[in-house]
Amino acid sequence: MEGRLKPMDAEQLRENAHKMVDFIADYYKNIENFPVLSQVEPGYLRTLLPDSAPNHPESLQDVLDDFQAKILPGVTHWQSPDYFAYFPSNSSIAGFLGEMLSAGINMVGFSWITSPAATELEMIVLDWLAKVIKLPDDFLSTGQGGGVIQGTASEAVLVVLLAARDKVLRRVGKNALGKLVVYSSDQTHSALQKACQIGGIHPENCRVLKTDSSTEYALSPELLNEAISHDIAIGLIPFFLCATVGTTSSTAVDPLLGLGKITKSNGIWLHVDAAYAGSACICPEFRHYIDGVEEADSFNMNAHKWFLTNFDCSALWVKDRGALIQSLSTNPEFLKNKASQGNMVVDYKDWQIPLGRRFRSLKLWMVLRLYGLENLQSYIRNHIELAKHFEELVSQDPRFKVVTPRKFSLVCFRLLPPHSNEECANKLNHDLLDTVNSTGRIFISHTVLSGNYILRFAVGAPLTEERHINAAWKVIQEEATALLRTL
Ligand SMILES: *Cc1c(COP(=O)(O)O)cnc(C)c1O
Repeated sequence: MEGRLKPMDAEQLRENAHKMVDFIADYYKNIENFPVLSQVEPGYLRTLLPDSAPNHPESLQDVLDDFQAKILPGVTHWQSPDYFAYFPSNSSIAGFLGEMLSAGINMVGFSWITSPAATELEMIVLDWLAKVIKLPDDFLSTGQGGGVIQGTASEAVLVVLLAARDKVLRRVGKNALGKLVVYSSDQTHSALQKACQIGGIHPENCRVLKTDSSTEYALSPELLNEAISHDIAIGLIPFFLCATVGTTSSTAVDPLLGLGKITKSNGIWLHVDAAYAGSACICPEFRHYIDGVEEADSFNMNAHKWFLTNFDCSALWVKDRGALIQSLSTNPEFLKNKASQGNMVVDYKDWQIPLGRRFRSLKLWMVLRLYGLENLQSYIRNHIELAKHFEELVSQDPRFKVVTPRKFSLVCFRLLPPHSNEECANKLNHDLLDTVNSTGRIFISHTVLSGNYILRFAVGAPLTEERHINAAWKVIQEEATALLRTL
């Protein structure tokens, strides 16, 4: 049949992929015209699409028309320059090209033999990135350590928790699972809790240590020390600390130097979650935030957040790759091959949960090569300057307050209640968030710190410029004015 789309055909691919690239380029051209936060109601799509898949082929144009008319309204535009919610999740031209190339090749690189370049490029690029953020040499693949690309920070903390668990159980005996204790702060990402649930750590052995404004929500080494001493005294076995550099709520930075001394002297695995803020450490002036990483056993940063690498690409480094492999390796007959059996190669299937894995290092390689370190540094610095600018705008308006000192590109702030009536402050800020986001003009998110409802303004989308910051602040001010008038 003339014109029918084949499973694969070079000329058909060329023609259709060109159309798709044009469609995507137009999307970016018009991205500011969409409501940033999708305004659809739950279930909106079922009424728009047929009940069952088509029996006969349809045209790409028809599908794209439907995408435009029915799917796009249900999309929240993470790449919009007016997106300031959660943390950024960058796409870039280089990242996009890398994704395209990876989709084009579409290999499944679980073992070295399944595509030697995929494994070797990942090792090399993660060594590059480790050097860019000046991780200690122990994390490089040339020693006992190495890097691996996980899908997300959640997978990263899970695999190192399993490695640390099994390492300690080899020492104390596997019947001691019920005695193992994990430490974190009340600001640590919920990914750790999930990892503990999966890893069989008893919920009552998860110590969530309190933080408050006196440490700017960072974990106090003294508190950690006390908790560990208490647990040892009652016969438990401390084995894992997840410290965070750049917490999700407020970008608090746990003091790695102080914490690392304690974990080291107690034989505790120290994992550093720098999912968002790790990217800032490519700039010498922000590198001090991870001082003390020398004492860490593992370190993670999401290149897919603030490093121009399309989702997903979470870089994890460990000092002792043997620990990871001992926990996660399998060796079924159907995967045996000379290189693996001879211990000559890295098989990344043994560093992660799934077997199959994509060629994700391509996009990171392209980001590093097509932008270069200098440009990546200015990219980070520009966002930090823009956040600083927003912080200044907030502090110039006496109706508002900046809540915690800004460290990176996140500003935490709130609208002050009239007559200092703290009781209505949380509702007021909750309402402000709702009205601001339902304008569709910007998207911001919230958190709760010390019981207070706080607004989060996270700069970091690749297209954001100063004019977007000014316009966003105007939207917030206008909505605040309207809201205060109703009180
Ligand atoms: C975003 C974030 C995570 C979770 O990221 P995923 O990659 O989606 O699992 C974990 N920790 C911190 C500090 C984060 O900012």
